[in-house]
Amino acid sequence: MEDFKMAARAAKLGNTLVEIPAPGRTIYVGEGYCTIIAGPCAVESREEYLALALRLKEMGVHMLRGGLFKPRTSPYTFRGLGREGQSIMAEARVLTGLPLVSEIMDVRDLDYMCERVDILQVGSRSMQNYPLLEELSRIKKPILLKRGLAATIEEWLLAAEYILAGGNPNVILCERGIRTFEPYTRNTIDIGAVALVKILSHLPVIVDPSHATGRWDIVTPVAKAAIAAGADGIMVEVHQQPDLAFSDGRQSLTPQNMASLYEQIRTLARLEKKVIQI
Ligand code: PEP
Ligand code: MN
Repeated sequence: MEDFKMAARAAKLGNTLVEIPAPGRTIYVGEGYCTIIAGPCAVESREEYLALALRLKEMGVHMLRGGLFKPRTSPYTFRGLGREGQSIMAEARVLTGLPLVSEIMDVRDLDYMCERVDILQVGSRSMQNYPLLEELSRIKKPILLKRGLAATIEEWLLAAEYILAGGNPNVILCERGIRTFEPYTRNTIDIGAVALVKILSHLPVIVDPSHATGRWDIVTPVAKAAIAAGADGIMVEVHQQPDLAFSDGRQSLTPQNMASLYEQIRTLARLEKKVIQI
């Protein structure tokens, strides 16, 4: 038996289906569904976020992303609006009825974030923050666990194990590329890991083609590859004016390109016999 006992396929019959309660309905991530999360890297301003949220809702996107606390390599760059940005996301949730995904970096923000966000994202840099994982295991809120930028598949599944073992079964894995010697892309997408994790584990796996590539012009083909490899969904960065984004503009799609990506994913999902919720 593997070291990741509860995350292992043998631990349960069938696959985990994570339920995300949304205003008036439930969004599913996992078995049989193709779930699409989109939004800017970071929440920057009220007007922009609300306008983008409405546009994404019209397209059929299922959940909104937006960073409030941004883990940035340089302390001198934009690190997110923090708690101030939360009311903007809350307004978008009311306006669109879409659940919110946002990153938690600090265990001290847990109660605050839990009350205000529908999925707590554990960023790549926090995948091995074990005290954070332990706290997240004590709640029932769905957790989006990104793969560490230098984590093996086993380390990633063991990080998931921390959350499961503590009592939270609602874990969604997210492949977002790993660091390699290739400088043309920000990270190297590990498509094989997506297919393999679907064999090794019952947990849902989604792919973030934005951080996986670092360049908007290959986000769409990588997103399609993800669905073809068996991913249960994608999370994509979108910005109205990528050139002006405070963070990750180079990997952000315009709303128009996102609409085109959505249509292509819809076609693929149909081929894979996955449901795109409406
Ligand atoms: C993000 O999703 O905005 C993010 C910071 O991603 P990662 O942790 O994968 O770098
Ligand atoms: Mn980003």
